[in-house]
Amino acid sequence: MKEVIEPLNRDTLRYALRINGTVRAYFSAFLREQGYLEIPPVIYSTATDPLNHPVFDTSFEYYGEKYSITKSMIFHKQIAVQYLNKIFAFSPNVRLETSDRASTGRHLSEFTQIDIECLKASRDDMISLAEDMIVGVIAEVKEKNKTELNSLKRTLNVPKKPFVRIRYEDAFREYGKQFEDLLSAKMTAPFWIIDIPIKEREFYDREDPNNEGFLLDMDLIYPEGFGEASSGGEREFEIEKILKRVKLKGQSTDQFKWFIEAASGGLLPSAGFGIGIERLVRYLCGFPRIDMVTPFPKIPGKLSI
Ligand code: AMP
Ligand code: MG
Repeated sequence: MKEVIEPLNRDTLRYALRINGTVRAYFSAFLREQGYLEIPPVIYSTATDPLNHPVFDTSFEYYGEKYSITKSMIFHKQIAVQYLNKIFAFSPNVRLETSDRASTGRHLSEFTQIDIECLKASRDDMISLAEDMIVGVIAEVKEKNKTELNSLKRTLNVPKKPFVRIRYEDAFREYGKQFEDLLSAKMTAPFWIIDIPIKEREFYDREDPNNEGFLLDMDLIYPEGFGEASSGGEREFEIEKILKRVKLKGQSTDQFKWFIEAASGGLLPSAGFGIGIERLVRYLCGFPRIDMVTPFPKIPGKLSI
């Protein structure tokens, strides 16, 4: 029998869920005001995010077709945004993470992203939107959840735009492989890691035409050691480049058939990002572990209900 998760603290969970409610309501209203249209989540598909790290397989066969449970809505976003212009979804993702990730405090095998995509947007546009969302949601929680924050003894500071941007290569040079954790522990406000090397990410992240080998993408990192908040960037949209990048990854196009077919018809450029809701609530609550924010946490490697 695998180790069963410890019983939940009902008070802290209740506070976290109230804060979760504020976060969802705030993001929904904010994005609608900005002209974004909410699309329903995709729970399974013939093509999902290949990810850049190993997870257990969730594929199954259904009437002779192979499907997988959604790891992210990246392909659906990139296609839907072509005709819907500005979209977002509260997207549940299942990533059967390996058990070594149970101790990071920020990995669940089932979580939700607020996933955003905008047609003809640049990375700078998306950085600015994400900064507005983070600044706004922290201010909102401070205002609406005073009781919960007091009970949790959590002090939150509203960060100021623009957040610091650090190039991946510079961070790596100064702090080595663990730069993200080291910088996250050291910083007192959220910050960006930008210009991530091509081999570190998936085929759909757009290579910078002015900086070969580096992507027009970005990760948002929380301060106080809470680690990664969000990933995103501009998307590769030209079919020749998409095919080249799939090949570079040693992947087969069969895996992404409907997306490749759709992309072959021509795509307009887009950019977007996803913010993990549970990680955000954990940060807002100041919890040591992400499983404390949800009544039915799926902790990698542990028996879950
Ligand atoms: P990614 O595109 O893989 O960076 O995922 C987008 C966002 O989803 C991340 O920045 C996190 O906020 C969140 N996320 C990714 N994986 C997990 C996980 N295993 N558990 C909780 N949140 C996650
Ligand atoms: Mg990421």
